[in-house]
Amino acid sequence: MYDYLIVGAGLFGSVFAYEAKRRGKTCLVIDKRNHIGGNVYNEEIAGINVHKYGAHIFHTNNKKIWDYVNSFVEFNRYTNAPIANYNGELYNLPFNMNTFNKLWGIITPEQAKQKIEEQRKAAGITDPKNLEEQAISLVGTDIYEKLIKGYTEKQWGRSAKDLPAFIIKRLPVRFTYDNNYFNDKYQGIPIGGYNVMIEKMLEGVEVRTDVDFFEERESFEKLANKIVYTGMIDQYFDYQHGILDYRSLQFETKVLDIDNYQGNAVVNYTDKETPYTRIIEHKHFEFGTQDKTVITEEYPTEWQQGDEPYYPINDDKNNETYKKYKALADNESNVIFGGRLATYKYYDMHQVIGSALTTVEKELGDLG
Ligand code: FAD
Repeated sequence: MYDYLIVGAGLFGSVFAYEAKRRGKTCLVIDKRNHIGGNVYNEEIAGINVHKYGAHIFHTNNKKIWDYVNSFVEFNRYTNAPIANYNGELYNLPFNMNTFNKLWGIITPEQAKQKIEEQRKAAGITDPKNLEEQAISLVGTDIYEKLIKGYTEKQWGRSAKDLPAFIIKRLPVRFTYDNNYFNDKYQGIPIGGYNVMIEKMLEGVEVRTDVDFFEERESFEKLANKIVYTGMIDQYFDYQHGILDYRSLQFETKVLDIDNYQGNAVVNYTDKETPYTRIIEHKHFEFGTQDKTVITEEYPTEWQQGDEPYYPINDDKNNETYKKYKALADNESNVIFGGRLATYKYYDMHQVIGSALTTVEKELGDLG
């Protein structure tokens, strides 16, 4: 009999397993995929670590979490500085002085502020009724038309006029010549890839991959005193309150016989004609010098049951459904629900690690 059966070898499950092991507990970790790591898994193609489930860049302001991940693996100095490609015109992201200089030829922060203010005033929007109006009221028409509209419409599969304003609460605008996408103090990619970190976490823990909890639910439930469940919460409760919706992605990965395709890890395609939203060139996350390169085009897609669930859709309807599942989960004895799928919440990696550590401390105490 194990102390814990952990369903899901993603970050939540792996951190929980590592911490439980340190506290002398026995765990069995299962995952329905044929590998560990969940969505942070890297697949090696042509000697390059490919982010199989979408580009993953680690960033955090929390020193404790940064020290924690660095205790498993060293991180490189990768800094995310995406480029936007709008019909062949290139702009720096996030919106900063480099972007404004390229858009309007202006040089000083004062000129940039004036330009944005002029455009916001000219649009005359006081009470934004949809995403388009909201974005224009925040950053004006030029930035909206060239850098937000096409990308957002592809991402959500509908017109920005039909999307609710609340999706965009703030748009980060930076009046310095700083292309670093994140404001966080710490950032990087694990040297050797995320698998190194996950393998270290799961060292000495029994792991079975290619095993779906629901295929042998009853026998799995008997194997351990407690379950840590990181799969989809609606599936756990047999969809009795309906299906929770997600937005999904399709990835087209290609090996190219050249050493450098786009000179940057992340290029966003912000026009509406290009069918994908981004191209990721994986080697640049690790300053790779291989002869070949691997690129991935990202296509946002409608999610249907059976597809990979990537982004929860936290609108009123889905949040209400989730609340019902959460109530059931709160009454479920001997099961801990954690991670992005079981809490129907988008988490960055540092957040899911923080949440797993808090859960473990609550469950098994702080080791200091
Ligand atoms: P997961 O990694 O999804 O792990 C859950 C595991 O449970 C999966 O392996 C799954 O196969 C398994 N499972 C589910 N059901 C069953 C079952 N029935 N039986 C057995 N196993 C099961 N975060 C960042 O900090 N930076 C980024 O740049 C970043 N980019 C992202 C890009 C994309 C496209 C997405 C979707 C997310 C991104 N994230 C990023 C977030 C990051 O992926 C998550 O924080 C993290 O993966 C969550 O870990 P988890 O353990 O909760 O879930």
